[in-house]
This record gives sequence, C-alpha cells and structure tokens, in this order.
Amino acid sequence: MMKEEMTCERVMDLLLERAGEILDAESDAVVREHLEACAACAHWAQALKAAIRMFGTAARVEVPPSLRRRVRERVMADAEERESHRADRASPIPEEES
Ligand SMILES: [Zn+2]
Repeated sequence: MMKEEMTCERVMDLLLERAGEILDAESDAVVREHLEACAACAHWAQALKAAIRMFGTAARVEVPPSLRRRVRERVMADAEERESHRADRASPIPEEES
C-alpha cells in the first residue's frame, strides 16, 4: 500500500485529538505536513489552538462536542469548496460569464 492519504477530515480528527493529548510522533509529522500544504486546515488549527487557550492550559483540555462539530463542518465545507474549484484549474480565475 502507498502511504495513507491524509484528508482534511482525518487531519481535523487528529488535531482535535491533539487538543487533549500529545499525538505520537508519526501522526504529528503527518499533520504538520498537511497543515503546511492546506490553508484551510492551518487556519482551523490556529482557531482551535486559540480556543483551547481560552479553556485553560492545554494539559487536560476536552474539546466540547459542539466545537468539534463546528470545526469539522467548517473544514469539510472549505475542503469541498476547494474541490469544486480544483475542477476549474485550467482557468485560475473562474469568472461568471453568461
Ligand atoms: Zn486540509
């Protein structure tokens, strides 16, 4: 098998896991790699970090289910939007023309 494809959804899962616990080194590296290549996930990683800071120390944070859901929904929406744009890659600036 080739190496597992890292989807935005998977990355979000890992990020949310990481909110409460340290990831193993391998997952951490994969997540970082994805964050460098994916602006949407990088953005949400930052937002998540800020939110966690508000809850207190990162030592024992439990991400509220409502936040988990919201972050995931946003990330998936962003990813979907990117997917649909990817189809128009031939024309970098899609313009609505009728
Ligand atoms: Zn992503």
